[in-house]
Amino acid sequence: MSQLELTLAIIKPDAVTSRIAGEIVSIIERHGFRIRGLRMVHLTAAEAEGFYAVHRGKPFFRGLVKFMTEGPIIVMALEREDAIQKWRELMGATDPEQAAEGTIRRWFGASTQRNTVHGSDASETARVEVAYFFPEIFSASSRGPSGKPRGAGPARRR
Ligand code: GDP
Repeated sequence: MSQLELTLAIIKPDAVTSRIAGEIVSIIERHGFRIRGLRMVHLTAAEAEGFYAVHRGKPFFRGLVKFMTEGPIIVMALEREDAIQKWRELMGATDPEQAAEGTIRRWFGASTQRNTVHGSDASETARVEVAYFFPEIFSASSRGPSGKPRGAGPARRR
């Protein structure tokens, strides 16, 4: 039987600016996800570079950082069975033109870059990404001797 899982979802600046964030949240809830955390954040360039470090050096990296810092984003910790895979299915392919009918990127995405949403791609990245924005979710199981969540705060940011 599938287990409850957490994943990180981001509503990107294009969707927040064009006021479809509420609609996206509504779609997420209708698809059985429980929102365990939700925050609006305006990433700095250093934070966006850290978050997308795996893409450093690629031709689209600088544009991606510029895009992700152009306005606020909404970050969410989502929970359901197979949350990581189910959220990626609901997002659709990176390029909205390649995304399947009935996916968020197909409905709302403007281009491969401005594709409205992010989702963790594997269980380890999901754990790191959720803990980065919502350290309190893991605090019960990850408190260090000082009582502070291990690695929480800016030093943990990647
Ligand atoms: P994702 O997991 O579907 O979000 O895709 P990736 O992890 O491969 O890429 C991260 C983000 O970088 C994407 O969601 C896009 O916003 C952007 N991106 C990826 N590939 C390209 C590309 O070829 N061109 C441009 N302009 N942006 C891209």
